[in-house]
Amino acid sequence: MSLTRSRISHKASRFTESVIREMTRLANRHNAINLAQGFPNFPAPEEIKNAACAAIQNDVNQYSITWGSAEFRRSIAEKYRTFYGWEVDPEREITVGCGSTECMIASILALVDPGDRVVIFEPFYENYGPDAIIAGARPVFIPLDSTKGWSFDPELLENKIRSASKDTGIRALILNTPNNPTGRVFSLAELQCISELAQRYNFYVLTDEIYEHITYEGCRHYPIALLPGMEERTVTISGLSKTFSVTGWRIGYIIAPPDCSSAIRKMHDFLTVGAAAPLQEAGVAAFQLGQDYYRKLAEDYTKRRDFLGAALTEAGFKIWKPFGAYYMMADISGLTHLGDVEFVNEMICRYGVAAVPGSSFFHDPQLGKHLVRFAFCKSLDVLSQAAERLMELGKDFKS
Ligand code: PLP
Repeated sequence: MSLTRSRISHKASRFTESVIREMTRLANRHNAINLAQGFPNFPAPEEIKNAACAAIQNDVNQYSITWGSAEFRRSIAEKYRTFYGWEVDPEREITVGCGSTECMIASILALVDPGDRVVIFEPFYENYGPDAIIAGARPVFIPLDSTKGWSFDPELLENKIRSASKDTGIRALILNTPNNPTGRVFSLAELQCISELAQRYNFYVLTDEIYEHITYEGCRHYPIALLPGMEERTVTISGLSKTFSVTGWRIGYIIAPPDCSSAIRKMHDFLTVGAAAPLQEAGVAAFQLGQDYYRKLAEDYTKRRDFLGAALTEAGFKIWKPFGAYYMMADISGLTHLGDVEFVNEMICRYGVAAVPGSSFFHDPQLGKHLVRFAFCKSLDVLSQAAERLMELGKDFKS
């Protein structure tokens, strides 16, 4: 029997294609500078590219162990020891996945049941919305306050969690620090607040720390798993994409207590079987890069941030200076009465610069109508071309 009309699942009908990836396609079509999607235009370190090529030449070309090659997991454990003084068991607590994107959905599917409530700070990285839908979870959105540097109100968080606990309770909280899209690095006090609530109301914290090494002005990332009582209820996710400028490699990893890791490994196995074997070998080389590499990474991003921030301000945008990650939120209401989507379309088609409409970071699009997110993971020459175009846009919109 043939289907008379195409049928898609209810879940698939509940979310659209990624707006971020859509902006990249639009940018390509119009030959625009892509400050939409977060991928660098500059090369990855030679050492790790050479290691990837050598691994392929040496025939590391078959499936690795599902939860990641033993050597790569050992080097991840070593990295956490060096950076954070955190002892992680590579045999039972580390799982390698296909980018932190897959790590997050595998973790949610492993730990959250359909109908469970999951706290998500808003604005949020676009994927968490569909992740919640795929898992059948019910999101509880907590606003990050743009007038207070994108911090959250601890009382509001507790009230929402308390009221949920009268019913089924909260199963997990998704944290992303340093944060995309706001650039906020959550303070120790905020992490302590989340940690106390997680222990009092018994929920997991799933923390996406993919930008852990991209922070500015002495602002340091602190893994919430290291707070007292948190290691046993925290799933820490990170990866190679952003730190080593290899977003196309799709290598991420998860640190979680052994019982959570076992469940996550099963999900990961049946979703993907495993992450690319030769690129895990290159990951070992990546973690051998010394402190100078990380220092230079942060220094270079500081220059890019300051350059784009100055250009956007001069063009008439109101920006929030990020303290981590490589995105800048900008308010367009001083420039235009257009909504974010129309404005970005105009910016791409008429001025040749792509960004992401702010509404895609909110469950209610109205909340982000006045916002646009720019990525500054581009070389200074590309950012300066973008700046020229943005000046032109600014002049036209202001006149
Ligand atoms: N998490 C956040 C917060 C991101 O901004 C991104 C990419 O933009 C990702 C995860 C994707 O990371 P990966 O390439 O490791 O899947």
